[in-house]
Formats: sequence, C-alpha cells, structure tokens
Amino acid sequence: MEERLAIHRVKMTKPCRICRHESLRKFLSLGPTPLANRFLTEEQLGSPEPVYPLDVYLCESCGLVQLRDVVPAELLFKNYVYVSSTSETLPKHFRSLADEVADNFALSADSLVVEVGSNDGCLLKAFRTHGCRTVGVEPATNIAKVAQSSGIETVNEFFNEKTARTIAKQWGKAAAIVGTNVLGHIDNLHDFLCGVAILLQDAGVLICEIPYLVDLFIQREFDTIYHEHLSYFSLRPLGELFRSHDLELFDVKQVAVHGGSIRVYVRRPRPGSTSTQKVSRLLALEKELHLDAYETYVDFAHEVQSTRETLVNLLKRLKSEGKRLVGYGAPAKGNTLLNYCQIGTETLDYLVDKSSYKQGLYSPGMHIPVFPVERILEDQPDYVLLLAWNFAEEILKQQHAYRERGGKFILPIPEVKIV
Ligand code: ZN
Repeated sequence: MEERLAIHRVKMTKPCRICRHESLRKFLSLGPTPLANRFLTEEQLGSPEPVYPLDVYLCESCGLVQLRDVVPAELLFKNYVYVSSTSETLPKHFRSLADEVADNFALSADSLVVEVGSNDGCLLKAFRTHGCRTVGVEPATNIAKVAQSSGIETVNEFFNEKTARTIAKQWGKAAAIVGTNVLGHIDNLHDFLCGVAILLQDAGVLICEIPYLVDLFIQREFDTIYHEHLSYFSLRPLGELFRSHDLELFDVKQVAVHGGSIRVYVRRPRPGSTSTQKVSRLLALEKELHLDAYETYVDFAHEVQSTRETLVNLLKRLKSEGKRLVGYGAPAKGNTLLNYCQIGTETLDYLVDKSSYKQGLYSPGMHIPVFPVERILEDQPDYVLLLAWNFAEEILKQQHAYRERGGKFILPIPEVKIV
C-alpha cells in the first residue's frame, strides 16, 4: 500500500480563514487521503498517487470548522468532474431556487444575475426563463465549455476582486449574485467578498447555499469532508464574515440538498434593517448544540470512528457469507468514506455512476473500477452500498427492479442500515 502513496506537503493556512485567530484545535483526522475527484485511468494505477492530510480543526474564537491543509485550487478545480445536470434532484432544486429569487427580489429583464461556480449552467438556464441576463463564473475549463456551448455566457475564472471588476465593467452591476455549494471551496473568503462588494448593486442580494454544519453534525456526515471543502459553516461565523465586509446576513432558509444546507440572504445594511426570526432561531439552535465548544467535536470524532467500525464489520460479515457487494455512486464523499474505512476491491466488486466522466476510470485511493448504472440490473449483486446517500430517495426509486428481485441497499449515513 505505502509505495502506492506519495505524501504531498501543501500550504497550511495559519490563522482562521474568517477571524484570523491563530490557535485552531484539531479534532478529527481522516488520514492521508487522495483528492476525492481525482479518478484514475488504468495507466495511472501503476504510478504513486498523491495523498494529502485530511485533518479538521475548530476555531474557538469564531466557531468556524475548517481544514488548514490547502491543496492548490488549480489542481482541484481546473478540470472538474462534477456536472449538476447528471442528477435529477439538482435541476429541479435549481428551478425552484431561480423561481424564488426572481419572485422575491423582483428581477426583471434587465436584471443581471451572476452565478459563482456555475458548473454546466443548469441554474442560470432557470434564471433565463425569467428573462434575466446571466453570467456564469466557472473555473473548470472543461465544464465552462459545456455551459458556453449550450449558450450560457461563462467566464472561465475563479471569482475574486479582479474577476468582479472585469464583470462589472463588461456587463454592469449585479442585481443578484448566487453561489450554490461554493463558499466552502474558497480559501481566501475575504477576496471573494471584496468581489461581491464590488459587483453587487446597492439594492442587490447575495444568495449562497452552503452545506450546514448542524446537519453534518447531527447526521454524522463525516464523508462530506474532503480537500475541496475547506470550511464547514454554521451561521455564527458566517455572520461575522459578512459583517467584516459591511454586509448583512438578513435571512436564512434550510434546504434539503447535499445532506442538509442553508440558503443565506445577504445585502448591504440599511438604516434600521434587522434580520429575520429564522436567523435568530438557528443561532439559538447552534448554541444549544454547543457548536462553539471543542468537546462537542471530540464526541463527534468518536461517533465517526464508531460508524466506521459498524460499517466495516457489516461488510466483512456479508463477504464471509459469500455475498456479492458493489457500490452505488462514485461521488467525492464516497471516496472519503472508502478511504477512511479502507474499503477496496476485496469488498466491492465495482462502483456504478451515472456520470460518463467517471465511467471507465478507477476511484482515487481504493482503485475500484466505475461502470454505468445499468450494470447493477445485468449483474444483480446481493448488496449495494449507497455512497451517494444524499440522492437516496431518487436512487431507491430508480432501482425499483433491482430491489423487486431481492437486491438490498446498505445506507452508511447517518447510521448504517440495510433497506
Ligand atoms: Zn475564527
């Protein structure tokens, strides 16, 4: 195993990413882990694979949970495999997001909507049905091309102060800036928010959808921790971040995507403006859960270890009974789970995934081959470990025929269970 790995040193962020406090405390170590989206070709299997520390820290000053080992963003996002439209759940979710924003903030035909991390343009297409002008910002060159070829204007860059100036100059200021599942990916949050402050109209709104630390914590979603996700947000540190750029988090909504997320609404403060009760309710919940206390996270780490034991023991027992096992989905989070639990081809014959980008490749670290989803029905294995558990409802429905014939799914999160 060891000769397969090449341990890489990466930039360590010294102070807290939000409040710049110096003393962060580590509470969970998921081990040296390869990049969760770096799938390998057959030829690459022979060369040493780069791995990076995957350690999680708490800032006891502002409460931000974060990684300090920062893999260069160019390495992570310039050629990206995640495409929003491959799931059925996300396009539907994006349509409702666009409808809500267009209605609540009275967007009109000349309103400019800028999306940061616009992927294949799925969300912006939904905004276009409301007549808005749209610009996407997407660092992954391969995916930006997909968006451009479907008619969605896309700037192939990372979003920061410089990109914001370029967009403001060419397209004007934005009535809405939207980012779904991007804030956690950004190392320099302050540069990002300087960009927002430049690009946003005075009466404009910033809407960010962010996986919520409360859900990660309660549902023990430790597998959503990987190098791309540098921060794991609760409302308290987020509020502090926005305030430091003279912006105000005035409303919040909990949404079901990505294992539980929050949609936060941010604007320039107006005289006498206040935030909604929903904001104060969630802040109170975070306090009740002691999300600011280090001991809380030590307990969480113990629960993660116990999930690993339960899952590994179950899989071992099934194998010893001669059962055939495969994995459903090759999401980034699945690779955290597989590597942390050291589950490889001795246990899972293969993985299946709907994304053609991943089919024919091997999973990072554990080197499990990825096939199209149809293989499950042709093959009828005894058990399918559901790695893409955030799409459980959609996948269980689609795999109706496999289950009718006696096939079973194993859900690893929030607790190991067979359905
Ligand atoms: Zn901090």
